[in-house]
Amino acid sequence: MLGLMQNRQLLISTVLEHAAHYNHDCEVVTKAVEGGIHRTSYGEIAKRAAKIAHALTKMDIKIGDCVSSLAWNTYRHLELYLAVPSMGAILNTVNPRLFPEQLTYIINHSDAKILFLDLTFVPQIEALYDQFSQVKQFIIMTDAAHMPKTTLPNVLCYEDMIAEEPDHFDWPELDENSAAGLCYTSGTTGEPKGVLYSHRSNILHSYSICCKDNIGLCGNDVVMPVVPMFHVNAWGTPYAAAMAGSKLVLPGADMTGENFYNLIKNEGCTVTLGVPTIWLALLQYVGTLGEVDLSTLPIERFVIGGSAAAPSLIENLEKTFGASVLHAWGMTETSPLGTVNRPLRKYGNFSEKEKMAIKVKQGRPQFGVELKIVDDDGNELPRDGKAFGRLMIRGPWVANAYFKQPDLNILDKEGYFDTGDVSTLDQDGYMTIVDRSKDVIKSGGEWISSIDLENVATGQPDVAEAAVIGIAHPKWQERPLLIIVPKDGKSPTKEDILNYLDGKIAKWWTPDDVVFIDKMPHTATGKTQKRDLREMFKDFKFKS
Ligand code: ADP
Repeated sequence: MLGLMQNRQLLISTVLEHAAHYNHDCEVVTKAVEGGIHRTSYGEIAKRAAKIAHALTKMDIKIGDCVSSLAWNTYRHLELYLAVPSMGAILNTVNPRLFPEQLTYIINHSDAKILFLDLTFVPQIEALYDQFSQVKQFIIMTDAAHMPKTTLPNVLCYEDMIAEEPDHFDWPELDENSAAGLCYTSGTTGEPKGVLYSHRSNILHSYSICCKDNIGLCGNDVVMPVVPMFHVNAWGTPYAAAMAGSKLVLPGADMTGENFYNLIKNEGCTVTLGVPTIWLALLQYVGTLGEVDLSTLPIERFVIGGSAAAPSLIENLEKTFGASVLHAWGMTETSPLGTVNRPLRKYGNFSEKEKMAIKVKQGRPQFGVELKIVDDDGNELPRDGKAFGRLMIRGPWVANAYFKQPDLNILDKEGYFDTGDVSTLDQDGYMTIVDRSKDVIKSGGEWISSIDLENVATGQPDVAEAAVIGIAHPKWQERPLLIIVPKDGKSPTKEDILNYLDGKIAKWWTPDDVVFIDKMPHTATGKTQKRDLREMFKDFKFKS
């Protein structure tokens, strides 16, 4: 017997309409790409989303068509986030920091017919557009006063395009399983792979974000996603904020610690999200301000994910701002939030040291997401906090297959997706990433976690960034090489670093050598680019 409840579909248009009706005067603040601070509201954004839908309909964009964006976190990008899926089309958010070949591959593979781009990216696209197979229209996300001279063909100005359109659109009643968004993995191995989110997966993921033991977004929050809207949907915050009625603060193209600080202070941000390197930039900037008491700022939560949050970073942020760090884990294939670290009530009496040992873990699965760890033969391993194996995940916002790769089976027989991460799971469900399976160092039949070593090394006061890679070793197969970027004006020695590690790690984990470089290579999503480090040190030999 079926239940007798209404079967309203979970659609992005319902988020748009909810925000328009119930959070209409809630502010959306942007550090504009053209300069200055721009202020609008969900009510205005909903009207402009309708105008976009009319303009795109005139350009023959239909249900199931793909529209790409190459854009920062701005109100205009938010308008696309709401308009494009609501009208039944698919928004493909492209990461502008990718190599030109990857960018072209993605735009062609997605079948994008239209490309929206911010002013910043016009020169980049001028050099590439003749390789785009299907894009028939370029729309520059600015007003007439800021339109650049360009060699791009078929160019429109965003504001001109929507100016005369009606501000109401009859959003179609779609099936909630229809495609809504398309993001590509960064392609560290092979070509980028497309993950095709549905309306349903995005809505359920957003609901989860609004739960208290997740990020807990609510109407009292002022949220600043520093993580870009081109990196796994800014971790779901644009939809979740519109759903919750949180004030949204968007940092635009200005990825400096100074901009983040000013926005936190002037807009009263309570929660902000980003990869660890972002917070290093913020801490570096506030370090230049002298004696100011930052604990009086309203910021309550820093959400850190994308790569491991080192204890020194967690401690620094919490002390400096009197806020909590929520460590989170996820990936493009998981929408992205898989786990979030919130302390359990039973840890209330723990010492600071014991609490930190929990905070560095990547967190617990949110309701809806299931995790298991398995060995190489797929056998489940114990949830004892010690055994480690391949991390597998399933849930309604986890990918089932990659876009246009229907024959590639990415799930095990129980429907779990292999994350490519190696982790432990403890009795309470806290998951700890040991390493990406390709980064783990295999030393004499044992594994060394590059993440654990990096976490300890970044605590050395003269160290800005640390990375560990495995170097071939005649006896042990691989041994760790520690690569350090010192803080400005500091020049620690190998002995300083090794002395610091001494007693904090198992003796046999001690790196066989320490080298110093000026700048850490980063991926398009701001993580340490280990592939480049391996290339840089491919001829490195340990002195025996
Ligand atoms: P990419 O970084 O390649 O663009 P993703 O954002 O999908 O693509 O990266 C997902 C991967 O990032 C995870 O599989 C994991 O290895 C790593 N990661 C994400 N969050 C964390 C975290 N909190 N700690 C350690 N690693 C993390």
